[in-house]
Amino acid sequence: MKLTAAALTLMFTTATPALAAAQLGRDVVPIAYDITIDPNAQAMSFTGSETITVDVRTATRTITLNAADLAIGKASVDGKPVTFTMDDANQRITLTLPAAATVGKHTIAFAWTGKINESAAGFFAIDYTNGDGSKARMLATQFEAPDARRFAPMWDEPSFKAKFTLRAVAPKGQPAFSNMPGVVTRRPDGTQLYNFRQSPVMSSYLLFLGMGDMERKTVMAGKTEIGVITRKGVKDQGDYALASAKLLLTYYNDYFGQPYPLPKLDMIAGPGTSQFFGAMENWGAIFYFEPELLFDAKRATESGKQRIFTVVAHEMAHQWFGDLVTMSWWDDLWLNEGFASWMENKSAADLNPDWFARDAAVAFDREEGMAIDATAATHPIIRHVETVDQIGEAFDAGITYKKGQAVIGMIESTLGPDKFRAGIRAYMAKYKYGNTQTDQLWTELEKASGLPVASFARDFTLQGGVPLITMTGGTCKNGSTLVTLDQGRFGLDQASKAPQQWAVPLRVATIGDVPATTIVKSTKPYSLTVAGCGPVVVNLGKGSYTRVRYAAQPHAALVANYGKLALADRLGMLGDDYALARSGDQDFAVYAATLDAVPTDANPIEWSMVSEQLGRLSGLYAGSPLKARIDASTIRRLGPVLARIGYEAQPNESPLVANLREDLVGRLGGAGDPEVLTRARAYFAKLKTDPSAIPPAIRAPILATFAANATPAEWDDLLALTKAETNPVVKNGYVRLLGTAKDPALAMRALELVKGNDLTAQQKPTILRGVAGGHPDLAFDFAVANKALIDSLIEASSRAAFIPSLGAGSNDAAMPGKIQAYAEKYQPEAARGGARRSIATIAVRKAVADRMRAGVSDWAK
Ligand SMILES: [Zn+2]
Repeated sequence: MKLTAAALTLMFTTATPALAAAQLGRDVVPIAYDITIDPNAQAMSFTGSETITVDVRTATRTITLNAADLAIGKASVDGKPVTFTMDDANQRITLTLPAAATVGKHTIAFAWTGKINESAAGFFAIDYTNGDGSKARMLATQFEAPDARRFAPMWDEPSFKAKFTLRAVAPKGQPAFSNMPGVVTRRPDGTQLYNFRQSPVMSSYLLFLGMGDMERKTVMAGKTEIGVITRKGVKDQGDYALASAKLLLTYYNDYFGQPYPLPKLDMIAGPGTSQFFGAMENWGAIFYFEPELLFDAKRATESGKQRIFTVVAHEMAHQWFGDLVTMSWWDDLWLNEGFASWMENKSAADLNPDWFARDAAVAFDREEGMAIDATAATHPIIRHVETVDQIGEAFDAGITYKKGQAVIGMIESTLGPDKFRAGIRAYMAKYKYGNTQTDQLWTELEKASGLPVASFARDFTLQGGVPLITMTGGTCKNGSTLVTLDQGRFGLDQASKAPQQWAVPLRVATIGDVPATTIVKSTKPYSLTVAGCGPVVVNLGKGSYTRVRYAAQPHAALVANYGKLALADRLGMLGDDYALARSGDQDFAVYAATLDAVPTDANPIEWSMVSEQLGRLSGLYAGSPLKARIDASTIRRLGPVLARIGYEAQPNESPLVANLREDLVGRLGGAGDPEVLTRARAYFAKLKTDPSAIPPAIRAPILATFAANATPAEWDDLLALTKAETNPVVKNGYVRLLGTAKDPALAMRALELVKGNDLTAQQKPTILRGVAGGHPDLAFDFAVANKALIDSLIEASSRAAFIPSLGAGSNDAAMPGKIQAYAEKYQPEAARGGARRSIATIAVRKAVADRMRAGVSDWAK
């Protein structure tokens, strides 16, 4: 599953012990499901029936499996009716047989009715408007993590792999799609019965059903048919995803050493949104929310296109890593998500080298992982999961995804790409169609490389936190350089500074010379001799998961030779120095010196990273006079960079320049740059008569600038434009913008829309999150006052954390108390993880702001 950007602040951790019973027993296991579904989209309900072939391994009178929110009418075993009881709290059903079922094969049958939901959990609906103004409703399923049980009674845990045969009734003229190809029969009433072929053995969370007024376009990649499925009229926008998927299928078939095992691979575009995820790797039927899959050349930016490749690469990597070989239990979710996230950049670096994806990961992904990992809210990558709530929490963007990806990258960098891939191929061959735990991956990588992988990898997966390597020395003697390396811990708060030890693999080199390779294992000072003389780079290429701090003299030497460093090392130094100023381990002036070394014509990723850092700095002091000085500094520094690359896209320019232009226009617009603001207003005025008046390259940041700075009259214009828009993706984009006005009165008007009838159930949380970006206090207070409404709009898995997350951006001293009071009033102790994380986030931000104030104030003169 690929999370949305917003999910980073939504997901949370809890230290509370599990409350409910753990996993289902193994006396009875499913072999094959035969499921028939008949939806009533109008009534938002469906009827279902199924026959499950099971293997009884130990004679038993009771059989327990999962079911949630299903009204079960009939249950039978081997054709004989049985009694059953529902356990709603644990989402289970238990059958009681008249006599014990004997060891061997049996069949269980159920008939039920279920709900079609408005938000993306279980079987759900997406409402949208066609280009001609007619209303449409698409149906789709979203089962990860534990929501297949809302569709049919199942052993809904990843280790109970079984074969699935799905049948579904679709309305006249509406195609239906599932994991496998289907055969359709028309029925006398005009409806259609789809019979989908039986799947290979797989986990229940990967099953998919979708239907609607859709069209499909395909390409062949070897023997595999790849399809995009879209609402009517936009299938050609799937061309970029199809071409990318074709390249990726060939690439992955080779990388994993196992050919893609299904006859087809569909990518389905849903014209809606979720606050939680952007795409889901259902085997052979990947679901995406539309902007993650379809490229609209009239409106999308270059970075939007790269995002499509990234998401497709992520979900396709899961077809092997996740779908073919699956974690045994959610404790090891990181195996799925860390690997798929790492593969996004690996495949992009090989297939789109001009994106510099590996370097971009140092600038952005690594920072996201380390940011949360350096606070009290961190946790080990592998952590024990028991309850349904904890399964939802396991989808933690910072740790499970971003730190997971960085740790996989560190292991590849330590073993070398060829030995690493050999280990992955052996692991795939050995465990295909099965389930694994993390140590089984370490074993295959150890066999392939001859290196003790587990001995250092476990330090990064079984404990939270970020190592900090400090380098001193650096004197040259007889053509080599002696350095001293100290290991400590990097933390933004007291809890995350508690002493801890890692075995940190490192490459250390003088610029341009052969690197020394070592593993720094203890906190005792460690001496290392490096070939050559000159400035020393620690963690060369930024392959390892650690912060690095240099003593004053070696740091000054690196700044003086900044231009000679490899791109990853320049980005890593910008990231480390900024972070060390935040943690108080180093003066802000040290970061400022590194920043001053970035030349106007630096690699665009460097300026994109600086732009993001300055944006965060401005946000840190929102509401204080220092903010205006930071913004003025930002305009002075970034304005010339934008002037150099220009507002208009140039023919044959690097995709990274296009990304940078988008970043700079957005950042300068956010900082109140008068030139960007004037342009934004001029472009918007033209939009009324010409929908394509804004060049796609800067459309998103120009609209963001306009909306952020809108006057009441301009906001009314934006609202009118939103209401008139028929393209569902464009409309969703406008809805979000309506929430981002700086004017608090306009933020209040945006919140009123959440109570009205102009927006769909999926659009309302979008606007609320937009308001929370600039007015966290207003958004939080509104959500608390309208709690029942807000809860009804949010998927169950994200509900507990959603309202507390709205206040997490607040700089108001009263907010932590308000969040705490909310949690105590409405949430059981076990569900307060989101509230705790929001409170911790606010505390860290305040401490960081206090720590850096003097240094930042000096810098922003
Ligand atoms: Zn994923």
